[in-house]
Amino acid sequence: MTERIDILGCPVDVLTMEAAVEHIADCILQQRHCQVVTANAEILYAAQYDPGLFLTMHDAGLVTADGMGVLLAARILRRPLPERVAGVDLVHSLAQRGARAGWRFYLLGAQPEVVVAAKERLELLYPGVQIVGSHHGYFGQEDNAAILEDIKASQPDILLVAMGAPKADKWLHDYLGKCGASVGIGVGGTFDILAGNVKRAPIWMQRCGLEWLFRLWKQPSRWRRTLVLPKFIWAVLGQRFQQ
Ligand code: UDP
Repeated sequence: MTERIDILGCPVDVLTMEAAVEHIADCILQQRHCQVVTANAEILYAAQYDPGLFLTMHDAGLVTADGMGVLLAARILRRPLPERVAGVDLVHSLAQRGARAGWRFYLLGAQPEVVVAAKERLELLYPGVQIVGSHHGYFGQEDNAAILEDIKASQPDILLVAMGAPKADKWLHDYLGKCGASVGIGVGGTFDILAGNVKRAPIWMQRCGLEWLFRLWKQPSRWRRTLVLPKFIWAVLGQRFQQ
């Protein structure tokens, strides 16, 4: 068990990227179900008002700090986290380790051509990585049974779900136990980044905690979503002064 802190009533694990990969490796080895939530400020804020998401966060085997907002919140609460464990970086780390360890990955989410491009990119970057199946992320409730059957037949160890948050996380909460994979991870817009459709911020911006600003510049339609950041920090300050 890793140490956990409480941010707005939700757990966040205190761990490095290396420790997260190690935890996942352990789950695969022991064939233990583990849902991983890569949490940002938006999810943690929304979970206060969304009982389904709140339950998902509490049932998750691992909750990592996807964004700098979460790191800042932890610092405000005087329980600092060692580093960011963002979904996209976690996918790279797992694919690298998985190529050596023989882990089997299934990719679920994004537009049909995007998920195919993401698969090809991972295969190019990590020779030997086994991506045993993929499916786009635009399907209805009526397609669930067929998709679960396809995942099960592919026998993956890790199911990566990129259908946006919290949709991916709630889907995993409902279906991870029915699809045969040990580990399920909600990875946000990772497939778009792998496919080259969305650019990541330069490293210096990521280090300064300005990735959100870069995304806002590249995708101005996200401005409404960014408004949650000050509300999140304000709520965390409230938590800090109630302690
Ligand atoms: N998406 C999907 N199914 C849906 C809605 C979204 O597969 O019903 C995909 C979308 O194509 C994109 C990703 O989910 O690849 C959402 O990316 P976003 O940047 O919104 O995720 P975030 O990192 O903000 O959670």
